[in-house]
Amino acid sequence: MISAPSIKPFFPPQRTLMGPGPSDVYPQVVHALSKPTIGHLDPEFIRMMDELKALLQYAFQTQNPMTLAVSAPGSAGMETCFVNLVEPGDTVIVCRNGVFGERMRQNVERVGATPVVVDNAWGEPVDPTAVEAALKAHPEAKFVAFVHAETSTGALSDAKTLAALARQYDCLSIVDAVTSLGGVELRVDEWGIDAIYSGSQKCLSCVPGLSPVSFSDRAVEQIKARKSPCQSWFLDQSLVMGYWSGDGKRSYHHTAPVNALYALHESLRLLAEEGLEQAWARHKAQHQALAAGLADLNIEFIVEADYRLPQLNTVKVPGGVDDAAIRGRLLNEFNLEVGAGLGDLAGKAWRIGLMGYGARSENVALCLQALKQVLR
Ligand SMILES: *Cc1c(COP(=O)(O)O)cnc(C)c1O
Repeated sequence: MISAPSIKPFFPPQRTLMGPGPSDVYPQVVHALSKPTIGHLDPEFIRMMDELKALLQYAFQTQNPMTLAVSAPGSAGMETCFVNLVEPGDTVIVCRNGVFGERMRQNVERVGATPVVVDNAWGEPVDPTAVEAALKAHPEAKFVAFVHAETSTGALSDAKTLAALARQYDCLSIVDAVTSLGGVELRVDEWGIDAIYSGSQKCLSCVPGLSPVSFSDRAVEQIKARKSPCQSWFLDQSLVMGYWSGDGKRSYHHTAPVNALYALHESLRLLAEEGLEQAWARHKAQHQALAAGLADLNIEFIVEADYRLPQLNTVKVPGGVDDAAIRGRLLNEFNLEVGAGLGDLAGKAWRIGLMGYGARSENVALCLQALKQVLR
């Protein structure tokens, strides 16, 4: 017989999370998770869900009725957008300037649609001129997909201009805001974004495992007008809306992750309490403090100052320094997690996150002091 009698309760170490996510979780959010589990059709739970929707609309700056949290991490939000909107045979302009743009391309392919890739170098933002050229060359395109904040490189793209271009050419925009939501300016309605997804564990500083999404009325029309049913039963928004729609006839689709939704409610409430614009300003101020300290240590940024993400600082590993050994020491000696480079930047970059609750002076000071000591 298989037994595991000697296994003790698990106590994770207390780390400071300054990588690409998950970020440090607000203490109030950890507390919210431990509240009593109630039924997901309980009237009190439904009342909480209505508040959660209003909080999500605030965070996204949208009045879209179809705004909710997918019961799975950011990658599921990405997939939700593609499987619901894109049909086999459609053409999608996909902007690729890092890991996540490439994942969008793979989603388009798996739906059976045709991606037209607009490439930009890693560390560069998406170039709107190149996107416009692709739109001109492909009048059959129905969507423009891009990543607002490319976490693999630390570059911010101009979502406002790209979404406007999509509209101008009669396309719907699909926007990855996993790392941007709560960390940099983002205005879904004002910018005319049609489908957007995010994640709970980056600048919202909630636990991982939920993906806020929002669809414009134009996007909802597109979903309703599909010729073929959405190939994913779980992510099919026409079914999920039966549960999330606030008009009293909520029906069972899947069991909502009850406690995780308490956590998201609390993290969004904290964001609203601080104020969205104040949160953006705080990320920027902490980024500037970090950048000044890194300059003193002669550590250089990879991304140009004009389009650096405040919440994800990608810097060059100094010459002659062993990337993995330094990150290991930061973790073991300072309980500090800093991200490694991905793809083209593997071994060459560190990704220092200042996300959500993590964007505060204590974290900046700890990171600078720890780096100074281990690089000595
Ligand atoms: C983290 C991230 C994702 C994926 O989110 P998960 O929660 O890890 O599934 C997608 N896009 C971007 C830009 C990200 O930073």
